Amino acid sequence: MLYVSTRNANEKVSASQGILKGLAENGGLFVPEQIPSLNISIEELANMTYQETAYEVMKLFLTDFTEEELKTCIRNAYDEKFDTEEIVPLKKAQDAYYLELFHGATIAFKDMALSILPHLLITSARKNKVKNDIVILTATSGDTGKAALAGFAGVEGTKIIVFYPKDGVSPIQEKQMVTQKGDNTFVVGINGNFDQAQTGVKQMFSDKDLAKEMEIAGYQFSSANSINIGRLVPQIVYYVYAYAKMVKTGEIKTGENINIAVPTGNFGNILAAFYAKNMGLPIGKLICASNENKVLYDFFSTGTYDKNREFILTSSPSMDILISSNLERLIYHIAGNNAKKNELLMETLQKEGKYEITSEMKEQLTDFYGNYAKEQESAATIKEIYQETGYIIDTHTAVAATVYKKYKKDTQDTAKTIIASTASPYKFTRSVMTAIDEKYKSRPDFELIDELEILSGVNIPQAIEEIRMAEICHKTVCEVEEMQSVVKQFLKMK
Ligand SMILES: *Cc1c(COP(=O)(O)O)cnc(C)c1O
Repeated sequence: MLYVSTRNANEKVSASQGILKGLAENGGLFVPEQIPSLNISIEELANMTYQETAYEVMKLFLTDFTEEELKTCIRNAYDEKFDTEEIVPLKKAQDAYYLELFHGATIAFKDMALSILPHLLITSARKNKVKNDIVILTATSGDTGKAALAGFAGVEGTKIIVFYPKDGVSPIQEKQMVTQKGDNTFVVGINGNFDQAQTGVKQMFSDKDLAKEMEIAGYQFSSANSINIGRLVPQIVYYVYAYAKMVKTGEIKTGENINIAVPTGNFGNILAAFYAKNMGLPIGKLICASNENKVLYDFFSTGTYDKNREFILTSSPSMDILISSNLERLIYHIAGNNAKKNELLMETLQKEGKYEITSEMKEQLTDFYGNYAKEQESAATIKEIYQETGYIIDTHTAVAATVYKKYKKDTQDTAKTIIASTASPYKFTRSVMTAIDEKYKSRPDFELIDELEILSGVNIPQAIEEIRMAEICHKTVCEVEEMQSVVKQFLKMK
């Protein structure tokens, strides 16, 4: 199977080349030429481990990997770094099924893809006889950064540079990143927001002169951002696994439609669910949940994507995004896999900050339901679920849980629904605890963590214990305009 650029029908690459390049030539994203069908029954899947399921799904997309290569990548990724053998446990609370995607090294869902990406990347480099060191360049709104750092730290032949908005991530997220060990890791705060960080990174990726200088110095860029197909593909796995698990435990019958609600930022996680649906997994609605940065909700309701608006800092910072990069893949598909049409829309986005899709395209969005949650609504949801069930969800998951309630009210749909639970409440302890009770507002972070353990009955994760004492290793802060010179400085280029 080949991957084609969303902006150029003639640019086609193998899976391993796509993983190495990250982004296509003119800023396009790679998409599979055809979405493959699941060629194994749900009954068979129901008896498989997470790792076995991962192989069955990923082999359909990464067709130039040998069985041995792919199985080795999977084995190295989904191991004891996860604190449960199930890898992604499913917990029922009220009438929804929470798919806990946060049992990896950094207790957020980015681990699902970023624990395997370094292995896919190194394997891809070997396959394509790459001699250069791979430099991973990443912009993060919080969770990607640490998950990528953890994934790449100490991986031979790679360096990783992470940019994050200095005042746009939670204190725990920041501490997790700046305490990262490993000679090949670099962490930089920028005086700007996530979109500026992401735009800066994208510019470096498409800068041909910089690429030449890098080549001379023995480096080449690759991306760990969710635009890399090496991140998208592993994310399809858990939807397939969760469905089969629900069949196995008798929650649903084979073939029964379920909905999937996803707290959405860059549109990667929900796009993976869309791919799962298109592979034949019985999924009804894809419920796209936004926080107050509701560009996607507006897009689904009006057909116009418009990022010209105030950027709002919320308590779900990993969803504070005005340009959802992965939406481009959906746009390409609903344009009839038409790179020209998509390219025009993306040019309009770049020039005017907005674009409008045709009514024909809009008609193809019926798989999706979009809505958003206000800050107080999400906080109220955390409190309500805790009071009714004792289960504590994080601020991002709360956005999806809130939107799911709105969905039920709007549609009366009673199909079983999986909510992608994207972070451990321990990662956003302050917001979570104050949602439960205002009295926690003025207490220090680590006191709240101990309190959360008592309320939830869930042990403090290793990832949190680690940073209590850890020393700060990264102190660089720069302006948006300085990003490129900071990169050169780290790589000791002139
Ligand atoms: C990244 C992230 C999201 C958003 O996922 P996308 O794939 O970017 O839509 C939601 N919640 C958490 C906790 C995240 O880290």
